[in-house]
Amino acid sequence: MQVKAVIEKRRKNLAISNCAKCGKVFLPDTYTPVCAECLAKDHNDLKIINEYLHDYPLAGILEVATRTGVDAMQILRFVKSGSLRITDAPDPYKCRMCGKDLKKGTLCQDCMDKVADLKEALKKKKDKNPSNRRHRR
Ligand SMILES: [Zn+2]
Ligand SMILES: [Zn+2]
Repeated sequence: MQVKAVIEKRRKNLAISNCAKCGKVFLPDTYTPVCAECLAKDHNDLKIINEYLHDYPLAGILEVATRTGVDAMQILRFVKSGSLRITDAPDPYKCRMCGKDLKKGTLCQDCMDKVADLKEALKKKKDKNPSNRRHRR
């Protein structure tokens, strides 16, 4: 995050910020960390996920991701932000993907690796598309 740049823009009284998802500069109407495009996509994704979960209430994140085509990281973000309840997990320390017992956190190491793989694959896909090119770490 380019905090300095954001502060600089605020000082100029322009409520411009960078979308937390796609990084695009946008003018938020209300306080939202993502641009209207991503917000609309979020709503759409959430709707698709909820429809799937209505039919398969016990589906895990990876299953939902595969079946709905929504990125697993995105689903995880919904779960963490509280906009989505993916399973009735009575135990908070269970992996949200495979249900394995955990000492802490929301994902077991295996699933974190899987997510990392997915992320990597996604990044490669995006890299092929020049319009989506982003800064590398
Ligand atoms: Zn965006
Ligand atoms: Zn797991």
